[in-house]
Amino acid sequence: MTTLVWCQRELRLQHHLGLQMALKQPDLVIFSYFHDPKLTIGGTESANSLWLAKSLQALQTDIQNLGGAIWIHEGDFAEQFTQLLKTHNITEVIYSFQPGEPFVTQQNLALQICQTHQVKLTPLYSEFLIEPSRFSNQQGKPYLVFTPFYKALMQRQDQCHTLDAAIPDLKATAQIPVPESAKHLPQSLQALLQKPWAQKLLAHWDISEAAAWQQADSFLANSVQNYDTDRDFPAIDASSRLSPYLQFGQISVSGLFTECQARIANGSLKAEAVQPWMRQLVWKEFARHLLCWFPHAETQPFQAKYNAMDWADADENTQAWQLSQTGIPIIDAGMRELWATGTMHNRLRMLVASLLTKNLHQHWLLGKNWFDFTLFDADPANNVMGWQWVAGCGVDAAPYYRLFNPVTQSVKFDAEGLYIRRWVPELKNLSNKAIHAPWEHTQECQMKGIILGKTYPKPIVNLAESRQDHLARVQSLKTPIC
Ligand SMILES: Cc1cc2nc3c(=O)[nH]c(=O)nc-3n(C[C@H](O)[C@H](O)[C@H](O)COP(=O)(O)OP(=O)(O)OC[C@H]3O[C@@H](n4cnc5c(N)ncnc54)[C@H](O)[C@@H]3O)c2cc1C
Repeated sequence: MTTLVWCQRELRLQHHLGLQMALKQPDLVIFSYFHDPKLTIGGTESANSLWLAKSLQALQTDIQNLGGAIWIHEGDFAEQFTQLLKTHNITEVIYSFQPGEPFVTQQNLALQICQTHQVKLTPLYSEFLIEPSRFSNQQGKPYLVFTPFYKALMQRQDQCHTLDAAIPDLKATAQIPVPESAKHLPQSLQALLQKPWAQKLLAHWDISEAAAWQQADSFLANSVQNYDTDRDFPAIDASSRLSPYLQFGQISVSGLFTECQARIANGSLKAEAVQPWMRQLVWKEFARHLLCWFPHAETQPFQAKYNAMDWADADENTQAWQLSQTGIPIIDAGMRELWATGTMHNRLRMLVASLLTKNLHQHWLLGKNWFDFTLFDADPANNVMGWQWVAGCGVDAAPYYRLFNPVTQSVKFDAEGLYIRRWVPELKNLSNKAIHAPWEHTQECQMKGIILGKTYPKPIVNLAESRQDHLARVQSLKTPIC
């Protein structure tokens, strides 16, 4: 009998429930990853695909160093999966359920194939703190608002998964020789790693399970106590930068919860110091639960009335937004950080999303898709929830009348323009007063050699007028459509 442990976004060896379960049984074990270039996040040339390439490479090295093996299959998922089941007489497939695309498509295909070939399929919910179907409100309905979700989860912490960190003896995964076709990183991912832009992006990150834990350790030891006060200021390195590792399951929310609790218990961390950050981790859990309950939300608004929203067509302003040429310094700084590093500070994500959806009136999916392409941490649940929250059409969303004014936000969260100066160096000589809205300080711009429209763009949108336009568009949704 042979068990297949099918890995999707659990690219780690510690806290790996599927491997632990399979390796307890006397059966032969195959540990596999299936890379179907048609089923990616953001496409084959996305930042997410690049992180996948690096993290698979790291996982392969780690498992081989411990005497085990991973099979990496490339090609059409259904074909590769069926072939593996048939060639190796697989009797059970164990996998960890993931919400959102491309995972749902793969999981549905796996279900059909296993049914056809009478193979037992065992889904686990190890990437959740608690299984969504076991976590609803008193009416048996899903939580739609974060705070009650968070409170209920904290009250039921004893029911949350605590994953065992121990790495089982992995030698059984190498008992069946890995076929030549599954020995190496897929061609398409290898080619991606060679791209000059990929090298530049990767220079900002160390991508492995060990690096994820080093990052977590350093954050918990040095920064977590200042997280609550500093996390909104993009010039300060105050957040954990763990999101891509979490997205790929190189580290898990459950593992981090256990680690925080252990540090609180041994006195090295104060509960009140770490609580704001743990709360933020629960946002990820909330987003994943929502997507399980409402899978349609990946492409449609949670609030159905937004189906009638009069979104503008993509135009040259959309391109200016993508290319960080909006003429609004804080926005351009955020978009340049994204392009250069594959990540963007949370406050900036809110600001750029607000500008795109509420000032430029572009569909939130357009922004979500751009983030899927450019973010290392692009995640079906978090990305959808983030965009729908800002656009106003999500559950528990920012109210429609709340538009982030990028200039006042810039003054508030980047008062000295440190973040802007880092990413928009052509404005670095402007005063703290002028740097947030250079178009209001044309004389100073002239004196400092900045020609708006030439050395730096003029703003592509009038913030006050577009705000009124947005309010009118949302107001019209309240009128029943005949
Ligand atoms: C428009 C928009 C799109 C977003 N898209 C994504 C995405 O594709 N992938 C993604 O992981 N996050 C997304 N976020 C949430 C958030 O911006 C990032 O999780 C955070 O910036 C990652 O930085 P960090 O790891 O340093 O987070 P920290 O502040 O250190 O937080 C720790 C972890 O908690 C989780 N978390 C924190 N904030 C949020 C949040 N608001 N929602 C859900 N989970 C959160 C993340 O997993 C994060 O790694 C988006 C937010 C917005 C407004």
